[in-house]
Amino acid sequence: MRELEDRIVRDGKILPGNVLKVGSFLNQQVDTALIGRMGAEIARLFAKDGVTKVLTVESSGIPIAFAAASALGVPMVFAKKSVSSNMSGSSYVAPVTSYTHGKTYNIVVSAAYLTAQDRVLLVDDFLAVGQALRGLICLCQQGEAQVVGAAVAIEKQYQGGGDALRRDGVRVESLAMISSLDEKKGITFCTQPGQSL
Ligand code: 5GP
Repeated sequence: MRELEDRIVRDGKILPGNVLKVGSFLNQQVDTALIGRMGAEIARLFAKDGVTKVLTVESSGIPIAFAAASALGVPMVFAKKSVSSNMSGSSYVAPVTSYTHGKTYNIVVSAAYLTAQDRVLLVDDFLAVGQALRGLICLCQQGEAQVVGAAVAIEKQYQGGGDALRRDGVRVESLAMISSLDEKKGITFCTQPGQSL
């Protein structure tokens, strides 16, 4: 999505450790109009897949997952990073190692929100080595829900997580795919076939 690529170039900051900071429009401050258009693009890509739910993990996946779910006309569910007192009944749990913090934590979702009748679209802000999406897939497997695919705002393709998931048969779509991130040379994008500009 050319608009997102242009925004990344304009406002993204490259941090040490291969981390791209997009706090000014995606992660902390949210450009709601842009996120709305990103959600519409995700809905276009998965329009024919009979999605019944969009699943993400708190917190930075929530705005884009909400926009995609809203455009698809389905509920959005977010896995929590800790069990809270307002979660009752049984739940599904999967371990995830955070790319940005390096810590392993459990993601948790109430069993009532992922069922064998669901066709789930996974949505997240970033895809690096793929731990977060694999954790979400694990939650879906526990609920016997079918994963129709994953959509991410920004895939750092050179970190291999997306390609490994594709090799495992998961459909992965990214709105911006970065082929290299370098503090001196800047950001390079992959051109994707079928990409809507
Ligand atoms: P993965 O699990 O695919 O290795 O990493 C994806 C998760 O780590 C995302 O949920 C995102 O929150 C975080 N993440 C990975 N790389 C970046 C990055 O370059 N910038 C930001 N802001 N978050 C990232």
